[in-house]
Amino acid sequence: MPNPLHYLTEELDTLKQKGLYQRLRVLGGEQLPVAEFDGRRVINLCSNNYLGLTTHPKLREAAAQALARYGVGSGAVRTIAGTMAIHMALEEKIAAFKKAEACVVFQSGFAANAGTVAAVLGKDDIIISDELNHASIIDGCRLSRAAIRVFPHKDAAAAESILADTASLPGRKLLITDGVFSMDGDIAPLPALVEAAEKHGAIMMIDDAHASGVLGRNGRGTVDHYGLHGRVHIQVGTLSKAIGVLGGYVCGSRDLIEFLYHRARPFLFSTSHPPSVAASCLAAFEVLEQEPGLIEQLWENTRFFKKRLQQLGFNTGLSETPITPIMVGEAALAHQFSRELFEGGVFATGIGYPTVPHGKARIRTIVTATHTRSELEQALGILEQVGKKLKII
Ligand SMILES: *Cc1c(COP(=O)(O)O)cnc(C)c1O
Repeated sequence: MPNPLHYLTEELDTLKQKGLYQRLRVLGGEQLPVAEFDGRRVINLCSNNYLGLTTHPKLREAAAQALARYGVGSGAVRTIAGTMAIHMALEEKIAAFKKAEACVVFQSGFAANAGTVAAVLGKDDIIISDELNHASIIDGCRLSRAAIRVFPHKDAAAAESILADTASLPGRKLLITDGVFSMDGDIAPLPALVEAAEKHGAIMMIDDAHASGVLGRNGRGTVDHYGLHGRVHIQVGTLSKAIGVLGGYVCGSRDLIEFLYHRARPFLFSTSHPPSVAASCLAAFEVLEQEPGLIEQLWENTRFFKKRLQQLGFNTGLSETPITPIMVGEAALAHQFSRELFEGGVFATGIGYPTVPHGKARIRTIVTATHTRSELEQALGILEQVGKKLKII
C-alpha cells in the first residue's frame, strides 16, 4: 500500500536540498538572555520576552497562588462554565490600562486576530490590509470571506486610494495594520491611516502584538505612542510577548466586546486560559505600571545594539524598535549565518520565504531589557566575526 502522505516526505526532501530545512531548537532551562539551547549556552537574541517577564518573581508568585487556589484548568469554554472571576479581573485590568471601554481575552494573539476579523466582517465587506500584516490577520481575513485589498507596506496614501476607489461599493470597510511589524521592526504610520479611515468611515483595527509592553507610556502600545486614543476602533494586543505569558486581547467599545462574546469562534469553541495564566498576566500589568525602568532599559539596549550593528556595516533594514533584522538576501545564506552564529555562541534565527519575501531573507535579532551591556558586546563581537567570514559585511 503506498503511503498517501508520501508527498510530504518529498516536500521535506526539497526543503533539505535547498538548505531550508529547519530543526526545532530546544531550550533546556528558562527563557533568559543567556540560555541553553540544544545543550549549548548561547546569547539569546530570539525571544519576544522583551522585559524578562517570563521569569519575573511577581508573575511566578501570582501563578503559584492561583494554581494553589483555583487548580490547573478552567474546565470549559468561556461561554459555558469557563469564565472565572480572575478572567474578568484581567479583562478589566487591561481595559483600564489601555484606556478602553472594554476588553476580551483570547487564548492567543493569533486567536484574537483571526477570531475578531472573521466575526466582525462578512462576505460582502472589504478589508484593506498592509502587505506585511501578520499571518493571523491574513487568516482572519480569509475566514471572514470578505474581499481583501492589500496596500504596499506602510503606504497610507495607497490605503486611502483603495478606500476612495471602493467608496461606492456596498459593504463595510476595515483598514488593518500591525502596530510594529514583526519581521522588520518598523512602526505603522498610524496617524495617516486613522485619518484615511475616518475620512471614509472605515473601521480602524491595529494588531499591537510587538508594541504591547514596548511602545507608548508604560507599554500601552501604538495608539498611546501616537496619542490616538478613541480613534482606533479595534486594538489587539498579545500577552505572549512582552507580557511574558500567553494570550491575546481585544480592546474597544463595550458593544464590540459583547458582540465578540457571541460571534468570535475561538472564544465560543475553545477552552479559556488556566487561572494561573490569567493571574500571571494580571501581575504583568502591575509590573508595567510599577517598574517603568524595564521599558527604559529595553530601549537603551535597543539603541546601543542597533547603532553598533550599523557601525559594523550591517544592514538593519527599516527597524525602529527592539526588533532588528540583519538583511542578508538569500534564504540559504541567512540560515547559514544563523547556524554559524549559533556555533559561535549567538542565537538569532534565520528567516526566509514564505515568512518574508524572496530575496529579503535575514536573521532577526531582538534584544531585551535583561541583556547586560557585556552580553550585547560579546554578541556584537561574534556577529562581526561571522559576518566578515560570510562576506555579509
Ligand atoms: C506574535 C504575533 C501574533 C500572535 O500572538 P500570539 O499571542 O503569539 O498568538 C499576532 N500578531 C503579530 C503581529 C505577532 O507578531
